[in-house]
Parts: sequence; C-alpha cells; structure tokens
Amino acid sequence: MFGSFPFRGDGGERVLALTFDDGPNEPYTSRLLDILDGRDVKATFFQVGRCAERFPWTTRRIVDTGHVLGNHSLSHSFGRYLTQPRQRFEIDQAQETLHRIAGVWPALYRPPWLCHWPWVLASVRASRLQVVSGTFAHPLEIVQPPAKLLTAGAAKRVRPGSILIFHDGREARGGRRDHSVAAIGPLIDRLRGAGYSFTTVDRLLGVQPYLGSPGTTPAGQHG
Ligand SMILES: [Zn+2]
Repeated sequence: MFGSFPFRGDGGERVLALTFDDGPNEPYTSRLLDILDGRDVKATFFQVGRCAERFPWTTRRIVDTGHVLGNHSLSHSFGRYLTQPRQRFEIDQAQETLHRIAGVWPALYRPPWLCHWPWVLASVRASRLQVVSGTFAHPLEIVQPPAKLLTAGAAKRVRPGSILIFHDGREARGGRRDHSVAAIGPLIDRLRGAGYSFTTVDRLLGVQPYLGSPGTTPAGQHG
C-alpha cells in the first residue's frame, strides 16, 4: 500500500551511506564537506530548495565534488504535506530549483519527517523519484547534544547497509549544527576501524542518482 520505502541496503557487506538533511546551511555544510573530502568519503545530501537558493555555491560544490544531491522538498513546510496538489508542487518546484542551481535532476527524494502518507508517495511516483528513508543517527540530534554522544549513538545504530541520517540544518530555518559537524570525523574514523566503508545512497540501493529529464508529468495528467 505504501510502496517502496527503503531504509537500508541489502546488508551483506560492511558498507553504509551517510546522509545529511535540511541543508545547505552555512558554515556547517561547507565544514562537513571539508571533513568528508579530507577523508575521501562521499555522502548524500537531501537539500531543501529554499535553502539551496540561500547558498547555491554549496549545493553546486556537492555535485561538482562527486557527492550526491537529493530532493528534500521546496520549503519543508508541514502544511504543504496535507494535500496531494501541494505535495506535487513542493517536490517539483524543488526539482526545478536544484536543477537551476546545480544542473542535475535528483532521482532521490526524502520526505520531510519521513512522512509517507499515500498521497506523498503518489506524488513521488508521479515525479519518477525514488523515496529514501533511513535511520536517525541520534534521537536528540535536533537539540545538539555533545559531539561525543552523537558519535557514540550513531556508531551504535550502524548495521551493514545502513542509511544514516544527520542534519546540517533544521527544516528550512538553518541554525547551529556545530556538534553534528564535530561528530562526523570521529564517526568515520571509528567505523573505518570497525571495517566499514562509505558509499552514496544510489549506489547502496543500486539506483541512478539523477534523472535524464525533469521526470514530471503535467498537473492533472496521470503517468
Ligand atoms: Zn528534514
């Protein structure tokens, strides 16, 4: 009834995907990218269209440096989750915005709050996107507990094939993410020590990261 809503890959190998939601949000997203690039780790960023308009160079850097850009709605607004036409607008306008900024049509969509009501999934399907869930790195990340707790909590939740969710912003409002940023380097080092390697969500799930065309069907048309 709810369709496909994967939260992890096959789970055979010690491989996982780090994902970051609600950005771009500076200076945190750039600091994360510096840490990831310094350790040669590729990650997946589910970005909010309105935030990408604020920091377009950061969204471009993600694509230009081989990380993967996913769609996380236009405005991260709960009210726009209540009807299907508003849903379609949120998804499709975010696609247009991210394409205008970074030159790609994302193929991966993570709904805000992981909301997968039937009409949300119907909108995702109509836009030919792959919906992606995941495991929250830490239940209190939103209030930024000390980085050591974030690292330890995330390491404990990881399983082979995990898609781990961090936040480099907070909904469409930005906010401080120092502790999330500080948790990432030690987490990568610790998991590598335990034999894990890192990949992007599309590779973990065996799907394409981007679409060749917008992927939308005109409103009112089925397909
Ligand atoms: Zn979100």
